[in-house]
Amino acid sequence: MADSARKQVVIVGGGYGGVSVAHALLDAVDRSKTAIVVINDRERTVYFPATARNAVADYDDRVSVPYDRLVPTDAGRFVLGAVVAVGDKHVELESGETVPFDVLVLAPGSHWRSFNDVPLTTDAIATHWKGFRERVHTAHSIVALGAGAVNLELMGEIAANYPNKELYVVHGHDRVLKDHYPMSLRKDTENILTSMGVQFKLGARGRVVDGGVELPTGETLKADLIVPSAGGRRRTEFLPAEWLVADGSVRVRPSLQTVQRDDIFVAGDAVDMPKERNAGNVHGQVSVIVDNVKAVLANKDPKKRYKPSGEVLSMTFGQRRAVGIMETALGFVRLPAALVSRSKNSDFESPRFNRSLNY
Ligand SMILES: Cc1cc2nc3c(=O)[nH]c(=O)nc-3n(C[C@H](O)[C@H](O)[C@H](O)COP(=O)(O)OP(=O)(O)OC[C@H]3O[C@@H](n4cnc5c(N)ncnc54)[C@H](O)[C@@H]3O)c2cc1C
Repeated sequence: MADSARKQVVIVGGGYGGVSVAHALLDAVDRSKTAIVVINDRERTVYFPATARNAVADYDDRVSVPYDRLVPTDAGRFVLGAVVAVGDKHVELESGETVPFDVLVLAPGSHWRSFNDVPLTTDAIATHWKGFRERVHTAHSIVALGAGAVNLELMGEIAANYPNKELYVVHGHDRVLKDHYPMSLRKDTENILTSMGVQFKLGARGRVVDGGVELPTGETLKADLIVPSAGGRRRTEFLPAEWLVADGSVRVRPSLQTVQRDDIFVAGDAVDMPKERNAGNVHGQVSVIVDNVKAVLANKDPKKRYKPSGEVLSMTFGQRRAVGIMETALGFVRLPAALVSRSKNSDFESPRFNRSLNY
């Protein structure tokens, strides 16, 4: 069927949010009436929750799969390319190509740094991770700047696999992780990693110098490998500035439509909400977006409302150590370490995500 005969839903971003929405929409729409187009600038997915473990052992095939099976040929298509602008009823790609839409879903995620700044082509992705694993393997001393969950998990994986390396975490605050987490979780995380050989330099901003990291005390930590703080800046620079809030997230209504446009929805990290960004948020967004997209396609009022659920933070440090918390109406409660370990080990549930791409 010619695509001009069908309405078209375009999804920008083939990460956790975009793929989850695409997978659900493919099941929910009548393919003879609606085509689904997913646009992504990278040739393969990146399943971020597993990238720290991939830094010490080769999990490449589980962390990253191609997009060729995501959209069946009768249902729409996958387009490789970077969206650089959103027009009235089309998006514009860097290549100059335009892709028309009736409804647009924006899921461009975040910019990450260091080993999570993953290149765009299949070959470059493989080289990137192999190269990082080699750098970890050959480094005698490694310094991580910043004690957010991403760096702490990475140092835990390295410590579990290489007990003889000198590992440091340098962090500007007195405790690891963000202030809103319970103190018991923050202390336990430090204690576990300390027992695994990681040394903490807290309350100290490190300055990268030749061969290492200089601390305010004048001490220099020698480093064969320096891991910068993880990043996590929204990738929304291609959108009009008036759609965005200060951190780059897109302002949305409870229906997950943008404030400015009824025909544009937002999913994943790009949604402006008073919550930590994580893949867990996507689970509550998918059904809202699917129902509301269908309503807009049918010229009806979108009725479903998104309410962010409580935060879950689960961190593993190698295959045997873990901490986790879940936010409830009564505040944060701790998750049993064995439960966190079991749910994330050893593949971090990547097969479940990959199944939505038919891998
Ligand atoms: C190391 C690490 C570990 C994590 N661990 C966990 C965890 O254990 N549990 C958890 O819940 N969350 C975790 N997260 C967070 C989680 O990965 C993100 O919240 C989730 O990936 C957000 O999904 P998304 O679709 O919004 O963005 P992404 O998954 O980042 O996907 C965005 C996609 O859009 C593409 N894209 C961006 N801009 C454009 C454009 N202009 N044109 C075309 N394509 C574009 C990108 O290439 C990418 O494929 C972790 C994150 C990191 C970095």
